[in-house]
Amino acid sequence: MKIKTTKTLCPICNAILEGTITEEGGSIWLERSCPEHGHFRDVYWSDAELWHRFERYDSEGRGVENPNVVNPPGSCPENCGLCSSHKSGTLLANIDLTNRCNLDCDFCFANARACGFIYEPSFDQIVGMMKMLRSQKPVPAPAVQFSGGEPTMRDDLMELIRTAKEVGFPQVQLATNGIKMAQDIGYVEELKAAGLSTVYLHFDGVTKETNSKVKSDEKAVRNCEDVGLGVVLVPTIIKGRNDHETGAIIRYAADHIKAVRGVNFQPIAFTGAASEEDMQRERITIPELLRGIENQTDGVIRKSDFYPVPCVVPFTDLVEAYTGQPQVKFTTHQHCGAATYVFITDKGMVPINRMVDVESFFRSIENMTEKLKKGGQLNKYKSLIEGIREMNESFKKSEQGSAAQFWKLIGKTLVMQNFDALRDFHWNALFIGTMHFMDRYNYDISRVQRCCIHYATPDGKLIPFCTYNSGPVYREKVWSTHRK
Ligand code: SF4
Ligand code: SF4
Repeated sequence: MKIKTTKTLCPICNAILEGTITEEGGSIWLERSCPEHGHFRDVYWSDAELWHRFERYDSEGRGVENPNVVNPPGSCPENCGLCSSHKSGTLLANIDLTNRCNLDCDFCFANARACGFIYEPSFDQIVGMMKMLRSQKPVPAPAVQFSGGEPTMRDDLMELIRTAKEVGFPQVQLATNGIKMAQDIGYVEELKAAGLSTVYLHFDGVTKETNSKVKSDEKAVRNCEDVGLGVVLVPTIIKGRNDHETGAIIRYAADHIKAVRGVNFQPIAFTGAASEEDMQRERITIPELLRGIENQTDGVIRKSDFYPVPCVVPFTDLVEAYTGQPQVKFTTHQHCGAATYVFITDKGMVPINRMVDVESFFRSIENMTEKLKKGGQLNKYKSLIEGIREMNESFKKSEQGSAAQFWKLIGKTLVMQNFDALRDFHWNALFIGTMHFMDRYNYDISRVQRCCIHYATPDGKLIPFCTYNSGPVYREKVWSTHRK
């Protein structure tokens, strides 16, 4: 049964094609025909019911006011920039600091060994990228993540972190294999002192079968605990290889809540030299991942506890209506990812929607936003108080009454206008999220047009994550053009 159409790419030649999204056998499929290479049909989501629930959160963003490129309609993703057609601003900016690495993983297609050259932008080029990101309108990019290769290979990393804070990034993150952080706690102290907010640690499992560097990872987490630096675990999930450990990874994170703020599962994307056979054997979709989490946590965290990224758009709309200032909007496509928060309590893990009826909570936020927009500044406090009373109902409807932590967040954020309260929220709860990056078998152009995760390049461009690493694969062009 046809559900809707979209634009997609031929998995062989990358030609832009009409795609049809269909439902059959309880799954969602992407179908397309290339005049040269024939018909293709690949799984898009393996759970139609969940797909339809997420579809309700569809929210189109407003893009940026100062795009770097002007593109004619229909040309996406041929000239990324960001361009005038892109529908979301930058939520998280990635900057590859180098393609050198201190590991030599045989599956890695993006390190200096595999490329045969070194890509490493200069300090001044990186500062230029950061300034460009902070000049984005109407809202400067709020977070930068230094990535690679392995970014700890750079001797000027501390200086780059300090500069990121100086140019105004509230959040500075590091995507790392953690080797250097495990070897030297002094290095972790230096990262923290320089202003690093969060470490994104590649962490594929809790046993040596699934994670060859598990001992090093555990040491890196302990060092972060001792220093007081937040960590997000980032497992790449491959069917048949480590998908049986998602529950154990979450339990490990809960046991280390002092440092670990979240787990960000990444179902494998088949980029590089991966074959169709590899894809058929190892593909895992978001719904399959969530089902695994439900089974492996004995139903403590359920598939139904997860929401798509744009579910928080009403919250930013409210903050905009209240402050009159444009805010960063989480207008990522509704099928790119899923997330929930789990509170770690004396009685164990409690997902946020056992404390709050999330659907009615967001409805009350939308009502409050409408009243604020209509009532103007004079009626601001009246609208807020009425709205908070309405929100209270969403707590009464929830399965568990103890919502003190959530109230703390709402009170501080809305009434005291302390938006740093969201940071406290992070400390009290474990974020569990997943994002399924695209590959040539499931490429949906309407997803990449809404992407909020962008790579900055030395020539002053911003490339959405899923065109940088798949589809047209801008990474190869950027790295080889600016090679050392
Ligand atoms: S992905 Fe975004 S930036 Fe790239 S061409 Fe499409 S709309 Fe433009
Ligand atoms: S990186 Fe890919 S999967 Fe993630 S938001 Fe962007 S387009 Fe979607």
